[in-house]
Amino acid sequence: MNIVVLCGGVGGSKLALGIYEEFPGESVTAIVNTGDDLELFGVHISPDIDTVTYTLAGLVNESSGWGLGDDTFRALGMLERYGHVGWFHLGDADLATHLVRTEMLRNGATMTEVTQFISQRLGVTATVLPMCDEPVRTRVRVADGWLAFQEYFVKRRHADTPFAVEFSGVKDARMSTPVLRALEVADIIVVAPSNPVVSIGPMLAVPGFRESICDARAPVTAVSPFVGSESVTGPADALMRAIGGESTSIGLARHYADWIDRIVIDTSDAPAANDIRDIAVACDVTNTLMRTREDKRHLARFVVEAAW
Ligand code: GDP
Repeated sequence: MNIVVLCGGVGGSKLALGIYEEFPGESVTAIVNTGDDLELFGVHISPDIDTVTYTLAGLVNESSGWGLGDDTFRALGMLERYGHVGWFHLGDADLATHLVRTEMLRNGATMTEVTQFISQRLGVTATVLPMCDEPVRTRVRVADGWLAFQEYFVKRRHADTPFAVEFSGVKDARMSTPVLRALEVADIIVVAPSNPVVSIGPMLAVPGFRESICDARAPVTAVSPFVGSESVTGPADALMRAIGGESTSIGLARHYADWIDRIVIDTSDAPAANDIRDIAVACDVTNTLMRTREDKRHLARFVVEAAW
């Protein structure tokens, strides 16, 4: 079975890990958002790709959900001594990943090639693919203007009310052959409970991406990142409202309705299931909160079995 999962970083990687562990004999491909990427101190950082790769490799910092476990921050400390405000947390060992990526990109490798190299070296047997090879940069408009995504998210701790979102450069992005092929041969496409606006949104904005999913023979199942009217973590609720949507599973079903077949919502939202089915999206209910390894594997199996 070919299982494809579309995901962002911390939330998405939880379900990606559940799928990876629960279906060890199957081919698993994670297509990952790169709209959050940034350049700092001359290095190219891909936070969502690194989170997914480290998670699948068993190397992630379990308490934060990102970065490497047991990493140290001496380089960041030195940068601060040189007057740089260390608002973006770069661990010492993590820095090696960014250095390798940057060097390979400078030598002409594509993001797809770099991502494959890093994930294979870290022992990941799933295929991790960037959503595209071209640079796409998510920007968020707040009261005092447009911010680069990580300025909004990390530097200002998503405390500003967002009013609009854009994916700079996306018009020039193209579907890569590996992404096209993965969608074509998929038996099931899972949309992780990642941020619909800034993790799944950039992928859908890549020209041809939405059409490729609609043309795929695989059923498409999304897991909602909303419980009640709030996101489980992070600013997905505020960002949904910023784009004129509603921050509930019903709102998500409406937002995704033209390209998904099915949505999985949390047990506590069970009363919304019929409203979702009225939007012509199939709906299943289970515990979607992934606190433990077992939760992740349970949700992975539930999602795959519901689609079949
Ligand atoms: P980011 O790129 O690191 O922000 O991560 P993602 O976009 O992949 O995931 C963020 C989203 O995951 C948030 O909107 C959360 O609501 C959602 N999320 C995080 N943990 C869980 C969970 O255990 N269950 C569900 N259903 N959603 C979750």
